[in-house]
Amino acid sequence: MSRIAYVNGRYLPDAQAKVAIDDRGYQFADGVYEVCEVRGGRLVDERRHMARLDYSLNELRIARPMSAAALSIVLRETVRRNRVRDGIVYLQITRGVARRDFAFPPTDTRPAVVVTARSNDLARLEQLATEGIAVITVPDIRWQRVDIKSVALLANVLAKQTAREQGAREAWLVDEAGRITEGASSNAWIVSRDGKLITRPLGRDILSGITRSVVIDVIKGQGLAFEERAFTVEEAYGAREAFVTSASQIVLPVVSIDGRPIGNGAPGLIATALRRDYHRHAEIS
Ligand code: PMP
Repeated sequence: MSRIAYVNGRYLPDAQAKVAIDDRGYQFADGVYEVCEVRGGRLVDERRHMARLDYSLNELRIARPMSAAALSIVLRETVRRNRVRDGIVYLQITRGVARRDFAFPPTDTRPAVVVTARSNDLARLEQLATEGIAVITVPDIRWQRVDIKSVALLANVLAKQTAREQGAREAWLVDEAGRITEGASSNAWIVSRDGKLITRPLGRDILSGITRSVVIDVIKGQGLAFEERAFTVEEAYGAREAFVTSASQIVLPVVSIDGRPIGNGAPGLIATALRRDYHRHAEIS
């Protein structure tokens, strides 16, 4: 089946879905994006994703291209036209198409919008969760505003490739003090030896993950011990459990970091339970 993309007002088959070479997303990575999980053909945590989108657009002073209601319709229509039941919907908004100049383009430049959707192999994802994933650590060489979900992802690309080359699924990024910021495309978590769930506090040095925020609600709701603080690589090596969160993978247990087994080397109980319970707490609309 040919895929359909929404591009600046039109739904087009893949082969015709094109953007201009002067698009500032292409020239400068001058744009933002969101990835929302699709489950049973419905959107997961749409409200929180749209709030973060507004934040990213505001921080970069990119105009909102359409109302929230119109955007919501486009997301759903793209999901429908691609017949996605379980998968993701991807939204990208750039500052638009204009003659190449670093400073902002003329004020009448319209932001460019692309939406795509694709199915995930749920069985394969579940298999991955049952096995757990390997993670490696690399220095965090990103810019200082990674709280903005911008399409400038080169450092994340390099980190992920290093992971891939070492047989790992994710790279955890390490700041200059030897503490983990987050994954190349996920938030990073550990469970300490004494059973506390630990993840780095929000700031300009991590993305405010939507899955992270829902997991925190679940943890608080269940009265589990929780500490929002940075943790070191050494602490992670010695953790009882480790896991990552992201919209496309929900909660994925980490079973090794830099080749060292975490806990008993199998997916942890807390991570597994959080994954199982996630969709009972998420907003699905
Ligand atoms: N951090 C980074 C760098 C990411 O790319 C992602 C995934 N987009 C996340 C965290 C997780 O965010 P979310 O739970 O909203 O997918």
